[in-house]
Amino acid sequence: MSTTGLQPKTKAIDCLHFINGQFVPSVNGRVFPNINPATEEVLGTVAEGGPEEIDLAVQAARKALRGPWRSMTANERVAVLRRIGDLILERQEELAILESLDTGKPLWLSKSVDIPRAAYNFHFFADYVRTIGTEASQSDDVAINYAIRRPLGVVGLINPWNLPLLLLTWKLAPALAAGNTVVMKPAELTPMTATVLAEICRDAGIPDGVVNVVHGFGPDSAGSALVEHPDVNGITFTGETTTGKIIMQAAAKTLKRLSYELGGKNPNIIFADSDLDEVIDTTLKSSFVNQGEVCLCGSRIYVERAAYQEFLDKFVAKTKELLVGDPFHEKTKVGALISEEHYQRVTQYIELARQEGGTILLGGRRPEGLEKGYYLEPTIITGVDRSCRVVREEIFGPVVTVTPFDTEEEVIEQANDTHYGLSATIWTNDLRRAHRVAGQIEAGIIWVNTWFFRDLRTPFGGMKQSGIGREGGVHSFEFYSELTNICIKL
Ligand code: NAD
Repeated sequence: MSTTGLQPKTKAIDCLHFINGQFVPSVNGRVFPNINPATEEVLGTVAEGGPEEIDLAVQAARKALRGPWRSMTANERVAVLRRIGDLILERQEELAILESLDTGKPLWLSKSVDIPRAAYNFHFFADYVRTIGTEASQSDDVAINYAIRRPLGVVGLINPWNLPLLLLTWKLAPALAAGNTVVMKPAELTPMTATVLAEICRDAGIPDGVVNVVHGFGPDSAGSALVEHPDVNGITFTGETTTGKIIMQAAAKTLKRLSYELGGKNPNIIFADSDLDEVIDTTLKSSFVNQGEVCLCGSRIYVERAAYQEFLDKFVAKTKELLVGDPFHEKTKVGALISEEHYQRVTQYIELARQEGGTILLGGRRPEGLEKGYYLEPTIITGVDRSCRVVREEIFGPVVTVTPFDTEEEVIEQANDTHYGLSATIWTNDLRRAHRVAGQIEAGIIWVNTWFFRDLRTPFGGMKQSGIGREGGVHSFEFYSELTNICIKL
């Protein structure tokens, strides 16, 4: 089913860079169009940055490391961070509309997840930074050691388009809490909320040069210029695994510290003893929320054979009820994919599934009545095995495969047969099995009988080619700070 029709109240904005406390165009005035994925219309223009704008931003950030930001007390800094969170909430409606215009995601989702979570990232890290200490130790009667935590320096933040403000603030809040200055390079497809965030930071009292935003593309553009800049101390990157490999090579020239949150091909393992209605409710979300464009989506569903047919029948029936269409219609459950290029990529995988002998049990097409916009029906594929590319490669759309299994050992082996290792979900009411299986799945984040539940104190990140390092709680501060050990002879 599809929905069309409603118009948002907030108007899209043209996006300038934010450098040293000022909104500025590109040095050569270059811009690129920002396209609304739900209508294919131009929303506005975006300043296109490159090495010159990155250099200006990095120099501003370097200078700001020695300015009023450094002399602020911890309490003053915490107050500014809390104020950023408050201002995000005050501007929640506007930010949610801009996020949905940029991404094509349903407005209710921006309002209930993306924007409140962005605010919470600031409130959380403002509070959390007060609780962390460092270690001290005595070496016999000879010396005492204690460690001090200092900012890493100028940090480059490079982000994807799927959860633009949520993921940007997930990095920005701890980076600022640890006393760093930053240059952010938002995804070229979703520049609007990052631009408003810069204004919010300024209004909250962030000194000039501490937070900078440079728009632009990745390769041979603002992204690569940021990675290569010799005065940047670290890069925190969320995006595709292939991009991560390119960034790692480029960053090696100046030996930058790296934090990586990369792609996933996450297993959703359903044992026959689980509560099937609960499983299906959550599996609808873990498969299709945000058009399946969430790195944590469980795109490989494995169901124990005894429950396989019942699961499939119910899952297909419930998926049919999901309304696809206008992100601004309140009943819409699945909006538009991010871009024409991504739409082509996802639909090519569906074609590939057919060629690989799979059955498209549901979806796989543009919904009827939606001629414009990158809309795709939620798609359920069966009859593919682990040799198939649709089972091995990240599709990052509303597309899942469903496969039966017979034994615990077999499903663990299949779940781990991937170079990804981001997250996994396990459904069972058998306590011992839950622990046993969770301990053997190669993933950084494992949920048992739930999905997407996040406590921001816990480590977040991927194993294998899904990431390097962890974010969340003290783990974020490990990346965003330098520890120095001071040894005093007694
Ligand atoms: P992407 O890798 O194409 O782009 C991400 C960012 O990197 C963009 O800002 C882009 O401009 C920039 N970039 C691209 N090439 C670059 C280069 N050579 N140098 C510097 N910067 C460069 O990813 P995407 O398509 O925007 O996002 C989707 C991907 O992100 C998926 O793989 C998804 O799984 C992953 N992701 C992971 C997490 C996580 O927490 N693990 C969260 C969200 C998304």
